[in-house]
Formats: sequence, structure tokens, C-alpha cells
Amino acid sequence: MKNSLATEWHPNLWPPFTQITSSKPPERALKGNGALLITDDGTSIIDAISSWWVTLHGHGNKYIAEAIYHQAQELEQVIFADFTHPQAELLAKRLSKATGLERLFFSDNGSTAVEVAIKLALQWWHNQGEERQHIIAFEGAYHGDTFGAMSVGERNLFNEPFEKLLFPVSRVLWPSTWWNDPEIDAREEKAIRQLETLLKVPTAAVILEPLVQGAGGMAIVRTEFLEKIEKIVHQSKTLLIADEVMVGFGRTGALFASQRGKLSPDLMCLSKGLTGGFLPMGITMASKKIFDVFLDSNPRKTFWHGHSFTANPLGCAAANASLDLLEDNSNSYLNFESRHSPHLKQLALHPKVKKVRLAGTIAAFELNTNEEAGYLNITGKAIKNMH
Ligand SMILES: *Cc1c(COP(=O)(O)O)cnc(C)c1O
Repeated sequence: MKNSLATEWHPNLWPPFTQITSSKPPERALKGNGALLITDDGTSIIDAISSWWVTLHGHGNKYIAEAIYHQAQELEQVIFADFTHPQAELLAKRLSKATGLERLFFSDNGSTAVEVAIKLALQWWHNQGEERQHIIAFEGAYHGDTFGAMSVGERNLFNEPFEKLLFPVSRVLWPSTWWNDPEIDAREEKAIRQLETLLKVPTAAVILEPLVQGAGGMAIVRTEFLEKIEKIVHQSKTLLIADEVMVGFGRTGALFASQRGKLSPDLMCLSKGLTGGFLPMGITMASKKIFDVFLDSNPRKTFWHGHSFTANPLGCAAANASLDLLEDNSNSYLNFESRHSPHLKQLALHPKVKKVRLAGTIAAFELNTNEEAGYLNITGKAIKNMH
């Protein structure tokens, strides 16, 4: 049994995604070590959610900690207009090589990386004298909590109070699948037909989470489906935005999930695992085709966007160190499926387990319960309280 010293809610903290009248007060974490979090009463807890999917190499990774420490002693922050710095240049070179996308625009988190991608896509058309505002997204999508990101995300309880202020977006079915799914071909065909129909309207961009919708419930599509999307979207000459905030940096068994689906997006959003889980940072990668349309002596064509902490040197140092570790230990994510697979096969035999699925480090299944599936299903809370 747990015996944490924190039995009450702090009087000044406002926790995210939490209704404190119906939730248990949080654990107090004092230390992180590898897969473990150590609370104030000395209990070790396995951080199976990788602290909201950001931690890649375990907690307290010494190599990244040292990199941040050294960078902090050299240069902790510098205005990123009129200045650049070596860590940002190195990171830009490496990520450009790894993604095939030439340009790298920094921001602070996943939501801002998505905002930047949407703004770049809209202005890309605007700069060429064509007003295109039609955006296509997928059912069940999650792209963050700022207004643009909420707009392209699934409309639900979480954004209901703001619904009237969200811009309209067209939706396509997300044909997620699982082991032994006999109807997947039909669902994929339906989604492709919907997309083809919607693309008849001049479209600014299609945005998706490659391979896996994370917050949408680890909803995994087949790589063949992504290959079809790639073909249709590029034939239609619209832009493709890959939101790799959750799936990037090895999560799905490739450095980027787009690579598994043979997607070549025009814009790619990165955050979460970017710094190995050490510091908040967002990046929007853009192809040369995107960047070139912003090059003009006319100031109206400039991308007038930036954040105070753009390309923070500590974040860049952490990201470079995390990339070192990913490069040195690529087997840690390339072969993860084969580590999950035997255990998942065992679990799949359980009568309460259904919709078993696997993509790289992500293994997921659902439980047969009497309530509707989703974040408000009371079973989740019951399981959480079982320790
Ligand atoms: C978490 C997430 C975001 C938002 O990132 P934040 O850093 O929480 O703002 C955007 N897109 C996807 C796919 C995510 O998983």
C-alpha cells in the first residue's frame, strides 16, 4: 500500500486536465531514476506513461544532464533574432538530415509546433496570392490545446466551451486497426473515399498524426493506409502536415513514424521526446518548397512569428544529447516490437482483453467493460487506485 505524505491538494496549484473534487491528490515526486519515480515517502513507482510520453532514455539520464550543465555554464539563453548559436545550428543540421526537411523553426511545445505548421501552411498559399483556408484533419485527432491546435483536433468535452471560436475543419475517418480485424479494408477504403471527396475543394493542408493517434487512444493505422494518403495528398498538390509530437524520436520503431508510412510531409511538428524529456521545446520542420515562398523583399511575405525562448540553448543541448543517445542505441527502439510481441500475445488470450495492437514501443489493448470507451470510463480510475 502507498503511504504518500501528500494527502491534500496544494492550495495554490492548478493541475492540468484534473477535476480536483473527484480526483485523488497527486503523489509528490522527489527523484527520478531510469524507469522509476521516487516519491516523498520513498516509494518507487514505474513511470509507465514516460511522464506524458516525453521521457525517452529514462529519468535522470546523466549524459543529457551533463550536456545541459555544460551549456548552462556557456550560454543559457540568447535572443534568436540577430543571433544564432552553435547548439541550434548543430541540431538544425542533424534534424534536417534525419527528416529530409531543410528548415527548422523553433517554438516551445507541441501545441506551438502545430500552430506554427498551420500558420506556415496558410501563409504559404497567401504569399502566392491564393487564399486557401480549407484544412482537413482526422476524426479522433489530438494536436494540442492552443486555439489553432484545438481547431484541428477532435471536438469533444475538452474544448466544448470554446467551440464557437474554433475555425472549421473537414474530418476524415481514422481507420485504426488491431490484431485480427476483419473489416479494416472496408474502413480504409471509406476513409480514402472521404479524403478524395474533400480534396475536391481547394485545400490548404491535410494534418495527421502519422501511424498512431496518441491522446486519441493509441489508435494505430496500417502503413499501407499512410502510403495511400501520401499519394492522394501529393497528387492533389495540397500540403501535408505530419504531427510527430508524440510518435517522433523512435516511439514507433523508426526514428520518425512518417518514415514507416513512407510519408514525405511538407511540414513536421516535433516536441515531447525532442529533448529526451528534459526541457520543453517545439520544432516545426519545413521543406525547401515551403521556405522558398517566404523569401521576398516584400515584408508582407515574412513569417512574423516567434517566441521569447526560441531555440533556447539548454533545450538545444538536451536535444543534441538525446539524438546522440538515439544514434548510439538505435536497437533500443528499432527492435522494440519483438520485445513486446510475445507478452502481448499472452495478454491477447485473456477474455477481457480486446483490440490488441502494436507499433514500435507502443503496445495497446482495450478492456471489455460495461461503460463507453474513453477517458471518462470509470475503469481507468479503478485500475489507477489498485496499487
Ligand atoms: C502532446 C501532443 C501535442 C501537444 O503538445 P504539448 O507539448 O502538450 O503542447 C500535439 N500533438 C500531439 C500528437 C501530441 O501528442
